[in-house]
Amino acid sequence: MGPAAAWQAATMILVGLTGGIGSGKSTVSALLIERGAVVIDADAITRELQAPGAPLLATLAARFGDGIIASDGSLDRAALAAIAFADDDALKDLNKIVHPAVGAEINARVLAERATDHVVVMDIPLLAENPREGLQAAIVVDVPQDVQVQRLVAFRGFDESDARARMARQATREQRLQIATYVVDNSGSLAELVPQIDALWEQLRVLPQLPEDWEFPVPPAKEPKDPAPVPTPALD
Ligand code: ATP
Repeated sequence: MGPAAAWQAATMILVGLTGGIGSGKSTVSALLIERGAVVIDADAITRELQAPGAPLLATLAARFGDGIIASDGSLDRAALAAIAFADDDALKDLNKIVHPAVGAEINARVLAERATDHVVVMDIPLLAENPREGLQAAIVVDVPQDVQVQRLVAFRGFDESDARARMARQATREQRLQIATYVVDNSGSLAELVPQIDALWEQLRVLPQLPEDWEFPVPPAKEPKDPAPVPTPALD
């Protein structure tokens, strides 16, 4: 391919966004979207794939019974949780059904952006726990644990012990900071967050674009480790 063609074939900038539960990933994502980023959010994709009528819902019903479908056609998460958490094999099957489907959709959405000049931000809550190659930077949303707990209790209806138990199953704040290319300090107000995202956006925009021969590194399929955090996206 000659220089002109190479110049025309823009390739995206691909970065990861992570942080503990309730640290502010969605809040940071929204601010990045306002500035022009394309955010790929595994939780949102999981919800979409499990929407009424979605094929994944039918696959789950075939394995776990029609009782996991509510009368309005949506996934009855409580019913599915009751089955999956009562039985290790059921939980493994659930993860085997949901993870590859979500992973394939994430990959498809990233690849669809490949030849654009977009800044593509993958929201990966467990990036510190499951490092992945092929990202040009890792953005870590950092908050002290007490702020995390306080927000989960105040805004998300958690009770404090549940919030702390979930945080204990995730990487520590220090482990996350170790993988950070950029740290966003979300311990303050939203007004204090905004200028940080402005500055971050300027840095993301000028990251080197991916080379044209870039290939999306497919993470190796693996059984969830025990007792490492096992995300159960169908249920969270
Ligand atoms: P999860 O891990 O569940 O996906 P998250 O990391 O995406 O959560 P958010 O949903 O962005 O976190 O934030 C958690 C809660 O804290 C939300 O209700 C959000 O509105 C609130 N919040 C986020 N940042 C701030 C802030 N700087 N000041 C006050 N409230 C905040």
